[in-house]
This record gives sequence, C-alpha cells and structure tokens, in this order.
Amino acid sequence: MKRCTRCVLPETYPGIRFDEDGVCNFCGRFKGVERLQQSIKKYRVRFEKILAENKRVGEYDAVMAYSGGKDSTFTMAVLKKEYDISFLALTLDNGFISPKSLDNIRNVVEGLGVDHIIYKPRMDTLGRLFLHSAKEDIYSRKGLERASSICTTCMGLVKFVALRYAIESSIPLIIYGWSPGQAPVEASIFRNNPEMIKTMQAQFTVPMKKIVGDEVDNYFLTEKHFNMPERFPYNISPLAFLEYDEDKILEYIKLLGWEKPDDTDPNSTNCLLNAMGIDIHQKRFGFHPYAFELAGLVRAGYMERDEAIARLDEKTDPDIIAMVKKKLDSAI
Ligand SMILES: [Zn+2]
Repeated sequence: MKRCTRCVLPETYPGIRFDEDGVCNFCGRFKGVERLQQSIKKYRVRFEKILAENKRVGEYDAVMAYSGGKDSTFTMAVLKKEYDISFLALTLDNGFISPKSLDNIRNVVEGLGVDHIIYKPRMDTLGRLFLHSAKEDIYSRKGLERASSICTTCMGLVKFVALRYAIESSIPLIIYGWSPGQAPVEASIFRNNPEMIKTMQAQFTVPMKKIVGDEVDNYFLTEKHFNMPERFPYNISPLAFLEYDEDKILEYIKLLGWEKPDDTDPNSTNCLLNAMGIDIHQKRFGFHPYAFELAGLVRAGYMERDEAIARLDEKTDPDIIAMVKKKLDSAI
C-alpha cells in the first residue's frame, strides 16, 4: 500500500493527496518542529495559569479519565507528583479491560494515593451499543477518521460520564491522557461550554437512543447539568505540552507497578475490545483507525516511522476477537 513518505498515512485515508515527493497534504500543513516547540511552551504556561486559578476550589482539582493504559497512567502520575493535583480517577469498565490492566490500575491508584471510581455501565446496554456500532455507521464519517466506531462509543461514554462527575461535584478540570497524536497541542486545553456540549452530546445520544432507548440518558448530561454553566470544567490533555517519549513513559510507570499487558493488541495497553474495533474498521474503511494518531506522532518527531508502520501492519489476534464476540453475543 502506498503511504506518505514522511508520515504513515495510507492512500486510502479520506481526503489524502500526495505531492511529487510522495508527501501528503497533512504533512504539508504541519508547520515544523520549531513552531511546535513554541506552541508547547505557550500551552504549558496557559496550563499552569489555569491550574493556579482552579486549585483547591472544588472537591477535587481534577477528574482523571483513567483507562489504565500507559498514557493516562503517566499523565496522572506526573501531574500528581509535579503539580500536586488532587485527583478523582475515573475508569469506565466496558467489560473488556484486560485482567493485567485491572492489576495495573489497582497498583497505580494505590501507589499514587488517588481516590478512584470504576464506573461500569450495564453490560446488556453496552453489548447492544458495541454490536450495533460494529455493524452500522452510527456516527459521522469525520469522527471515524481517527477512531473506530467501537472506540468512539466507549469514548463518548467516558467523556460524558466524566463531565457529569465534574459538574455535579464542582471539579474544575478533566484531565485526559491523549497522546500528542490524538490531541495536538492546539486542541489540548479548552473550556467546555454548554452549547458546544449539547451539540456534541446529540451526536452520541441520537444514534444510541435508536439502539437502546432512553437508558443512555444515565450516561449523559441532563437539563440539570446544562443549567449550571458556571460548573462546566476545562478539558486538558497534558501530554501535548509535557515531554512525550514512549520509552521514558514505560520506564517511569514501571516504578508504580505498571506492567505492559501481553494480552492486548499493540495499539492498546488496556482494552481487549480494541482489536475487534480495529479489525472491523480496516475491513470497512480500508485504513487503520490509529493511522491518524501514529502519523501525527511521526510527523512531530515523537515516533520513528518504521515503528509506526510496524504497529499498523501488525495483525489483530483472532483469538481475542473471537472471545470478545462471544462475550458481546451473550451479553445482549
Ligand atoms: Zn504525511
């Protein structure tokens, strides 16, 4: 398959064009590492200012959207140690957190001294949502350029459950462990506002309600939340402006008792469902749902191009997918 000679985006990626050197239009738009470094400095200052203004004003300083993967583990650990943030860590258990990852989660929250909630939506509802998002296009094509439909379902739930907690408990920040390829620096800090969130929420709830009915309202915001606009938190993805080096991250979190699970696909360090999401996405759209993220990491110099290609080429494990399908079928 033809790929951009600079990043790793394939010719099947929506809207891609190549110049005479085989460099894609997404790379063409990248303003260079020097400009990136300037932005990183600017955003770090902005982050520190927001933190200073919002520390110790709520019950906790921040909700950490904690998947138990390497990136969110590192993010939480660094912010706790270097910025003394008081966290409420929130893990959405989608029924497919790998057993090793659950051990990691426990080790890390215990070791860091962080309060932690595992939020587990009912499995029959989740099963129906996952199976439908596996079979049909229930979300906009644009969103699916960066994540599989199954991941999008899960992430929608994570984002809105985190927002509910933050608004209900007056917690001023929600921290995400997005890599700089998933959340580039320009998108790493923003204040949620009710109008924007209402629109975003409908993109999830409208298709989800067709599948499972009003039950999904439990996971999203209601009028009660929208009537407290002053409590809408910031969303922050600190890996965009902190140092991001995968080897150093793995080394750092190992000291917290975090071990790399060997039971997940190479693009996830916590979720067994991810393999199925990737498999379906590739068959349906002809490109890997992590291509955009990995291309961003390569472009900005965070990852070697060969490494990214190796991850994109790795075959998903049919045994994991079969196990996931069986559990989903029996859940509904
Ligand atoms: Zn490119």
